[in-house]
Amino acid sequence: MKIVAVANQKGGVGKTTTSVNLAACLAAMGRKILLVDLDPQGNATSALGVTETEEKSCYGPLLGASKFADNIIQTRFDNLSIVPADLDLAGVEIEVARLDDHLVRLRDTMAPIRKKAPFDYVILDCPPSLGILMTNALAAADIVLVPLQAEYFALEGLTRIMDVADQLRSVNPKLTVEGIVMTMVDNRTNLSQQVVAEVKTHFPQLIYKTVIPRSIRLGEAPSFGKPILEYDPSSLAAFAYTALAGEFIRRDAKVPEVAEEKAEK
Ligand code: ATP
Ligand code: MG
Repeated sequence: MKIVAVANQKGGVGKTTTSVNLAACLAAMGRKILLVDLDPQGNATSALGVTETEEKSCYGPLLGASKFADNIIQTRFDNLSIVPADLDLAGVEIEVARLDDHLVRLRDTMAPIRKKAPFDYVILDCPPSLGILMTNALAAADIVLVPLQAEYFALEGLTRIMDVADQLRSVNPKLTVEGIVMTMVDNRTNLSQQVVAEVKTHFPQLIYKTVIPRSIRLGEAPSFGKPILEYDPSSLAAFAYTALAGEFIRRDAKVPEVAEEKAEK
């Protein structure tokens, strides 16, 4: 079982869209997935149409008031469970900050799940600030996946999240930034192409070959409580997230690049 933090301190870059759709595509491929919504805004929760969230968020488990496993809800999709978010979660920033072991509360409350490993991947959708929830996610995760919007200053934001991951290694030495996913890429604009090329130059090993296009359908899907695979399975965006899930699995299995290129042909 691998715990994946989908993180970037910048807001609106596609963290939730990537968490939800990567989770849904991996589940559709038969992987057992748990999505954990760590953002009090609850966007990942509502994007999957989950509404029964009362006292089911990470709030109780993070404060030691309930068990993490008791808050896992099966979604209406096969292989896809969720620990939803609710507004209580906003209180964590203040209430957990007071506790001594505030950095490792999530890691500790998830320890029994890690041991039993009923999932292939646990995906943590992080909020956009460098607060308690995000640092807890990085302290609990094995790998970090960074969605990066193809726009000016993307690289500056990237350096920042890399630095944060470095700092977290004092409590989580094995944490690795596993990949960068370019989101909202508009191939008709030079800017998008330049940013993707620049990230490729600086981080050739980290950047995913699959890029997520800017897509109106992706923006619409959450308001229907559906991942793109259900909302518009024949869209380019559904194709892109399916490809991303495939690349994610191949990377995890460490299939060499050459084999991967052959597989694409
Ligand atoms: P936050 O920091 O607030 O949690 P986020 O990083 O999770 O934001 P999302 O919520 O995934 O970002 O995306 C921000 C907005 O952009 C949403 O309205 C979402 O529907 C839209 N969006 C995300 N990806 C795409 C895309 N590839 N094409 C078009 N719209 C997108
Ligand atoms: Mg989000």
